[in-house]
Amino acid sequence: MSSTSNSRILPTPGESSPVRRHFASDNYAGIAPEAWAALEDANRGHAPAYGNDPWTQRAADLIRDAFETPCEVFFVFNGTAANSLSLAHLCQSYHSVLCHDVAHIEKDECGAPEFFANGSKLLLLPGTNGKLTPAGIEEAVLRRTDIHYPKPRVVSLTQATEVGTIYTPAEVRAIGAMAKKHGLRVHMDGARFANAVAALGVAPREITWQAGVDVLCFGGTKNGIHVGEAVVFFNRDLAREFDYRAKQGGQLCSKMRFVAAPWVGMLRDGIWLRHAAHANAMASLMHDLVSVIPGVKILFPREANSVFVDLPKPAINALYGRGWLFYNFIGEGGCRLMCSWDTTEDDVRAFAADLAAAMGTPSE
Ligand SMILES: *Cc1c(COP(=O)(O)O)cnc(C)c1O
Repeated sequence: MSSTSNSRILPTPGESSPVRRHFASDNYAGIAPEAWAALEDANRGHAPAYGNDPWTQRAADLIRDAFETPCEVFFVFNGTAANSLSLAHLCQSYHSVLCHDVAHIEKDECGAPEFFANGSKLLLLPGTNGKLTPAGIEEAVLRRTDIHYPKPRVVSLTQATEVGTIYTPAEVRAIGAMAKKHGLRVHMDGARFANAVAALGVAPREITWQAGVDVLCFGGTKNGIHVGEAVVFFNRDLAREFDYRAKQGGQLCSKMRFVAAPWVGMLRDGIWLRHAAHANAMASLMHDLVSVIPGVKILFPREANSVFVDLPKPAINALYGRGWLFYNFIGEGGCRLMCSWDTTEDDVRAFAADLAAAMGTPSE
């Protein structure tokens, strides 16, 4: 990415040291040690290309173990590709996808879902705290049933949501049931699926296939992998020829073992959930420290690894002036403070102290 394309987002950092961490995004973080070690392991000798290697087999098997079901697994380079190609695979061009107003597929993928699906339209639904509701879905389906309307085919929900909230198992089940009632497929954008599972303390199956999810875009990047997301089809019939779609979409990595190996490192011994739980805990601490600063308004319930706050412009500028990087336009606006697998308690406390100072509150 060119530096100019990002320039509306962030100011030029002030003083910064090579090990400094920020709250802009979990994709600002580096590679988790377990993912890194697996990459090094995979870097010995030769192995077959295009996913016909033992690492890719092992990673897919570990995903099947984690979900306790024989799902079909495909690795692609990023979340935009995972979402776009899987949605394209669920739709004909005259179909539509129901999603939330602030869904990443709508706001942050540059029209890729419509592009890869050859015109399938996203239909935007409102919903409190970034969540769809069964009633909202039904209303959208029944609003128009004539031939002039793009026929609803898929419900897409984001778990954890773009505003850092989490669908409970009951909420996912209710959406799954409503989708089934109207013959809709269920797609889950799980860029932060790990954070949701860690926060809920459930088995992954409880908020996916057992709740009616047909396909999950299972995020690895934001949880400490260097590159790569897994497209997981619980409904295996729907996976038919997805390998061709991924290849045509430029998403079949020839040295696939370097996409797959970090998954092996992360999925072993529940390490993926340990990293996600840590990020969640740091966000919880951030919430506790900043919510008590007078003038700071929390915008959404803190449930996963982010805290959304409304801050006065001078305070935002003061923090930018101290070299902190964070976004102020994600989701429904406000400032998003995103924690990562490697965020430390000291990072959080330093940020909160600078925020308190910026708000004119002496910190203890
Ligand atoms: C980060 C993210 C993605 C994936 O984005 P890419 O930059 O394409 O990898 C998808 N959905 C959500 C909700 C995200 O936050």
